[in-house]
This record gives sequence, C-alpha cells and structure tokens, in this order.
Amino acid sequence: MRIQISKVVVISLSFLATSLYGQQSGVSQSGGNQATAKPEDTELWQPVPKVVTPGTDCNAAPSDAIILFDGKNLDEWVSAKDKSPAKWMVADGVITVNKSAGNIETKRSFRDYQLHIEWKVPENITGSSQARGNSGVFLAATASEDGGYELQVLDSYKNQTYVNGMAGSIYKQSIPLANPTRKPGEWQIYDVVWTAPVFNPDGSLKTPAYVTALFNGVLVQNHFQLKGETRYIGQPYYKSHGPAPIMLQAHGDPSQPISFRNIWVRELK
Ligand code: MG
Repeated sequence: MRIQISKVVVISLSFLATSLYGQQSGVSQSGGNQATAKPEDTELWQPVPKVVTPGTDCNAAPSDAIILFDGKNLDEWVSAKDKSPAKWMVADGVITVNKSAGNIETKRSFRDYQLHIEWKVPENITGSSQARGNSGVFLAATASEDGGYELQVLDSYKNQTYVNGMAGSIYKQSIPLANPTRKPGEWQIYDVVWTAPVFNPDGSLKTPAYVTALFNGVLVQNHFQLKGETRYIGQPYYKSHGPAPIMLQAHGDPSQPISFRNIWVRELK
C-alpha cells in the first residue's frame, strides 16, 4: 500500500512539473513554441491593400466608388420593366419616386459590394403600417416586379407594422436589431455590405447570400444569412442568377412618395 501511494505521489509530481515546465517554456497544446518564436514570424507584408482616398466624411464617396446618384441625373438607372430611361423625378439634388413609373434599377450589375444610400420620407407623410413611406432597396434584382432581396424602406418612426417588414428589415426574413429611424422629413442612411449568393452550374445553391447593414450608423443586420429571395407571400427560396442590378422600389401604396440621394457603391472582389 505504501508503495502504491508513493507511486501516485511521484506520478502526480511529475505531471505537475511537466505542466509547470509547459507554462514557463510557452509550449502550447497547439504545438507552437513561444519561447523561440519571434515577432517577425507573424508579420505579413503582402499583399499590400490598395490606397483608397476616403470622402470628406463617412457619407461621401471614397475614391474607388461607383457613383450611382450624385444629385444630377439618372444616367446610371433604367426602368426595371423595360430598361428604358428611368422616369423618376430629379430636382434639387434629390430623386423622388414616381410610383406610376414602376421600379428603377442600375444599368450595371454587381456581385459583392458595399453600398451607401440615403432616403427621406416626406414630413407630411400619411397612412399607416406598410402604407406609409414604403419603398425598398433590392440588393440584387432578379425580376422587375419586386424580384430579389429587399432591404425594406418604410417610415418606421412611431409607425407600427409587422417587425420583419419595418425599416432595416430583410423583408419577411430578418427583424432589424434596433430601430434607429429618424422623424419623417429627416434624411436616413443605409450602409450595406452585400455578399451575393453563388450557384452551381446545375442551378443549385453553392453559398447563400449574406447582408450586414447599418441604419443611421446603427447595426441592424449582422452578417445575416438569407434564406432566399424575399417574398410578399410564401416562404423564401433561391433561384439561380448571376451578377444583378440594384433596384429601388416604387411601392403601390397611396402615401406620398419618398426620396433618395447620395448613392454610391464599392465593388468587392
Ligand atoms: Mg418595400
């Protein structure tokens, strides 16, 4: 018995010693040897990120952005249904939705990008729930009649509606993490990071879409994985597509039309 106890003590002591040695010498369980490691071992000097000149403030387009609207004209946009020149109104540096003219979309198509877009609900807005300042940013448009992935635009300042349909929601898929909506008559800002879905040659989904969105500087979507295209009725599902335009919604509700300004995008490659 005495011998057995001694054995246990010896084994325990050697285990303790080994542990102490491991801690002191920096031998980690993952196998790295911190004792001999040098700071230079973990320094990367390539690839050097490209130089981008930032805007004068964080709302202004940086040097590598594609300007989609700078207050002057709709040259970067077409009517979604027939690709004819966009017929929304431009005045005083602002685009205002022409509801009877339907959705407009970018002439260019995109995959992954960073988008900045500002929007304003008129101060005299009327209506309630979804019929109050409704529009939307389709992050990738797949059909002219609201096909694609909609980041909802709505007056959500003291306007109750279903929460997965309020401003900052991914329509009927993801409730925004907060409601930072400003009053009608004030400009609202979306900054969005869009990762487009990727499809296999047979049309099946390879990787889903993800979206991160800040609304007036507040995180409302945090790398949300989309379940498919956003749908008014029924469950979301994917259908194969390639690079796609960004589309703005002319919603059919009778409330006063909203406006957009300062729209730019940075392609991520
Ligand atoms: Mg909408």
